[in-house]
Amino acid sequence: MSDDNKSKTPDALLAALRRIVGVATEPRVTRDDVNQAMIRHWCDAMEDHNPVYTDPAFAAESVHGGIVAPPAMLDTWSMPGLAPRPRQESSSGEEAGMVPVLNQLDAAGFTSVVAAGMSHEYHRYLKPGDRLTISQVITSVSDEKQTALGVGHFFTTESNFADQQGNSVGRMEFSILKFKPGTGTVNMDASALEGLEKMPRPRPAISRDTKFFWDGVDQGELRIQKCNSCDGLHHPPVVRCPGCGSYELGYLVSQGRGTVYSFVEVHHPQFPMFDYPLVGVLVELEEGTRIISNLVGVKPEDVETGMPVELAIEATDPGLSLPLFRRARPARRESTLLFADLEPGQELPPCPVAISRTLIVAGAMASRDFQDVHHDPDLAKKRGSPDTFMNIMTTSGLTNRYVTDWAGPEVIFRKLSLRLGVPNFPGDTLTYTGQVQSTALRDGKGVVELLVTGTNKLGDHVTATVELELPTP
Ligand SMILES: [Zn+2]
Repeated sequence: MSDDNKSKTPDALLAALRRIVGVATEPRVTRDDVNQAMIRHWCDAMEDHNPVYTDPAFAAESVHGGIVAPPAMLDTWSMPGLAPRPRQESSSGEEAGMVPVLNQLDAAGFTSVVAAGMSHEYHRYLKPGDRLTISQVITSVSDEKQTALGVGHFFTTESNFADQQGNSVGRMEFSILKFKPGTGTVNMDASALEGLEKMPRPRPAISRDTKFFWDGVDQGELRIQKCNSCDGLHHPPVVRCPGCGSYELGYLVSQGRGTVYSFVEVHHPQFPMFDYPLVGVLVELEEGTRIISNLVGVKPEDVETGMPVELAIEATDPGLSLPLFRRARPARRESTLLFADLEPGQELPPCPVAISRTLIVAGAMASRDFQDVHHDPDLAKKRGSPDTFMNIMTTSGLTNRYVTDWAGPEVIFRKLSLRLGVPNFPGDTLTYTGQVQSTALRDGKGVVELLVTGTNKLGDHVTATVELELPTP
């Protein structure tokens, strides 16, 4: 089959792909029932602490009457796992669904893959024990297109999910680009690695008196010098307590929470070892001392004194980690907002997400996405990306979390639609913002539409529209 496809002309390939369009796969029972273990993996990866997903007592008293799965997990239940692609065909044995399209494009050299967008509709929340069937149909295949990533074809799928009673529980549209690595119009390696391979920052001068501080940074801790005689805190470290004169100096480990006491945007002169815009910040730590650092993941115009911040120990290059600060993650709301609380134009509080390598890999595994570009940096490079990048399901899970943390645990998702832009690479900060677009009473239900955006230092990573149902008193 692969030799056959390699010799295919582009027209013949496109004709073969388009024969699959509109042919629905025979409904297939998903590998596992909806289950608590996979829900827990997902919530751990996304750091989603909504108790309706994991706390049986809370969930029993909630609007759901028991544990439910995060709505954004919808397509996780149908993922094949780390196994060869299953056969997909229609009930009459024709090629159908995504698998034959992926196979044909792979064989023709379009071996790289990136998700472009996804749209979920939720007809009801899924509960442990639900056994789903999925039927999938390719709805379109584009002509060959030159994209920034490479020459490729976009295709879209529609998946319909039904439960054990045959009732529809959800629907998904998914849009994917398959492209030939190394045929892009932008050199991804150069542009995306700019931040990683730049001139390294100046090294700290580490003395006997400051070694404890840098040892702490290496271990992911922010250590503040503390006088063992009078408990006074000093930063930067000193050789003798300025309060009582003692030489008996130890340290405490800061919780890493504080507020912006003062800040400055550094304009001129610019140095190649720093990322601009560059915000210098004086943070007042909760422990009661102050520290000078940089604020990352926040536009200079959005910085305010008094703003809550949290520690972000980040590798500014492979040989140096620094204790930086980012905007603090807002607290999760414990009682759900009411429909009457909201009006169009209302802003959601910004929320940062540290894009660690662990988050990228854990999110991919929790969504049963074993594409190498989400866990193997070397293979990601081979496929034309400078590093591993976050999969779309992790983005949908984080978007789910951002909205429920703001609206409260019992808000009901009706729709979640995402369009992806620039990728999320490790070491960056994704910052969510959002706004209420509309509010309407429909059939007695309080329906609210949000526009949510997640940006990183390369630009907009995700633009999402969300339709929610909120309690009406
Ligand atoms: Zn002292």
